[in-house]
Amino acid sequence: MKNWPIKKIFKVALIIKVLGFIMVATGVAFFDANFVLFVVLASIGGVVMLGGCLVDIIYYRCPHCGFYLGKGRLPYGYCKFCGGPIDNDETQE
Ligand SMILES: [Zn+2]
Repeated sequence: MKNWPIKKIFKVALIIKVLGFIMVATGVAFFDANFVLFVVLASIGGVVMLGGCLVDIIYYRCPHCGFYLGKGRLPYGYCKFCGGPIDNDETQE
């Protein structure tokens, strides 16, 4: 996973967080009808969202110096910290 282009990691982390959010939202929709289902979906969705944030924090880093590239923002192409190119292998997609 560390060899993935940084934009792919960003997308994967975002997809995981959105999936978790959808699960929480579905759980909330069942709040009145089925409280147990709400608790189950909200718990799993919460963990999934947390997992997405962890992927973000662990892998959304400069491949050269490991500097965290910021939350919810695509890099500008160069690391803010060491100036190294970040999405140079983007063409692999
Ligand atoms: Zn760097």
